[in-house]
Amino acid sequence: RKVVLGIDLGGTNIKAGIVNDRGEVLKHTVTPTHAEQGRDALLGRLCAIIEDFRAHAASAGLLPAGIGVGTAGYVEPLSGRVAYATPNLPGWTGLQLREALEQASSLPVAVANDAHAMAVGEAWLGAGRPYRDFICVTLGTGVGGSRVIDGRPDYGGSGFAGGFGHMVIAWGGQPCNCGLSGCFEQYASVTALYRLAVEAGLRGEELPDGAKSIFDLAAAGHHVASAVIGRYAEYTAVGLISLAHVLNPQAIVLGGAVTAQGDALLGRVRRIVRERAMPVYRDTPIVAAELGNAAGVAGAAKLAWDRLSGNGGPD
Ligand code: BGC
Ligand code: ZN
Repeated sequence: RKVVLGIDLGGTNIKAGIVNDRGEVLKHTVTPTHAEQGRDALLGRLCAIIEDFRAHAASAGLLPAGIGVGTAGYVEPLSGRVAYATPNLPGWTGLQLREALEQASSLPVAVANDAHAMAVGEAWLGAGRPYRDFICVTLGTGVGGSRVIDGRPDYGGSGFAGGFGHMVIAWGGQPCNCGLSGCFEQYASVTALYRLAVEAGLRGEELPDGAKSIFDLAAAGHHVASAVIGRYAEYTAVGLISLAHVLNPQAIVLGGAVTAQGDALLGRVRRIVRERAMPVYRDTPIVAAELGNAAGVAGAAKLAWDRLSGNGGPD
């Protein structure tokens, strides 16, 4: 029985899963990215995960057939080269990631942007299934995105469509590590949520679980925490309204760990979108990614299966 390895390489964690052609995840692991240790250390970590995959597959009588990787950064879909990555992954810019991993593994590898992969996962097995044309927005260390049409990411002119995180929502605002300022990512990422909390006076020791602690405090009646989430929901909604106005998707699927907070966040975001978007866009459903944190792994695996069956990449 053939299996592939799906890898979701984010700014904070590397999630990996052994996935069959029905999308069942047979084994799942999470390893810290430690991007600050640089490119070679990170490549070494990916190779170790691949070794593990081979060993596990062999012991379970499975045949490793390929690998799919979703990585933060702007990926050339055919060559699998990372054309540009923001400093969330230092040293990743210019990396021939597909070639490097094919050499290391002797398996066919498909490489895509992490949010494109997540969107493919949601289209395949998750919240995107009912829709022909939807967008995914991931709220994580950065903010990523993808529009999916008929189950495939919209790659744009050269593969890089979906840079929703670097849509400017406050010109002259918070500096972004892409070089601009006021990018959506600086207001709607988990990193931004934490910053908003600190700006509002919450101290590090009040937030032992990072951004999650802000939701815990708010649920326990902490007014400052609650106001921070309100502000964060506004920023998030403003970006989603712009995306709805530009793309008119059938639905917006929100991913990233914060979306696990359910209505504490999504309820507020929906309400603001309903109140402020232009009337024809108001009812755009905003739903949480159904595969949650596993969407990126599932999507990367789907891209690997597609590559194996010759359906990979843009037309
Ligand atoms: C990067 C994107 C990535 C997103 C989510 C952004 O900072 O520019 O390439 O998809 O973070 O990881
Ligand atoms: Zn930016």
